[in-house]
Amino acid sequence: MLVKKMWKVSKSKVHGKGIIATEDIKKNTKIIQYIGEKVTKKEGDKRSEERLNKYLNSEITGSVYIFELNNKYDIDGSVLYNKARYINHSCEPNCEVDITNEEIWISSIKKIKKGDELSYDYGYEFNKNDFRDHICRCGAKECIGFIISSDDWKKYKKYMNKIINKRNN
Ligand SMILES: [Zn+2]
Repeated sequence: MLVKKMWKVSKSKVHGKGIIATEDIKKNTKIIQYIGEKVTKKEGDKRSEERLNKYLNSEITGSVYIFELNNKYDIDGSVLYNKARYINHSCEPNCEVDITNEEIWISSIKKIKKGDELSYDYGYEFNKNDFRDHICRCGAKECIGFIISSDDWKKYKKYMNKIINKRNN
């Protein structure tokens, strides 16, 4: 399938480079394929761990870039030809990661206007020991300040409430 290019790499308002829509995009559109090196799960896990350790206690917030393709293989998207790696996280994303038929696509979950920056939820699990290392500057009204999967926002809020209550008592 030939997909028309609806995006370009540009300077991001959020962080470093980003992907900007070059035309209006409808909801549920496959926009950009997340490509990379196909590696075994074992190799993917090893690389994830190495990268996480590297970013721990460092000034740079790096991405791990490993996606699960199926139960045997991962995709390592850290390669330069994978432009989808420039897409930033947002607390109010306009895209999501779609994995179907052994392909990973970034698809729109709402209407996107020409000039808007693409974003998706990186899906980082909440971990009370290191969430502060991943500051979010997505600029969304609902931004919670850290890169945490929206699935885990409840956990984060519960944890913060506990800290505030402790301080007040
Ligand atoms: Zn945010």
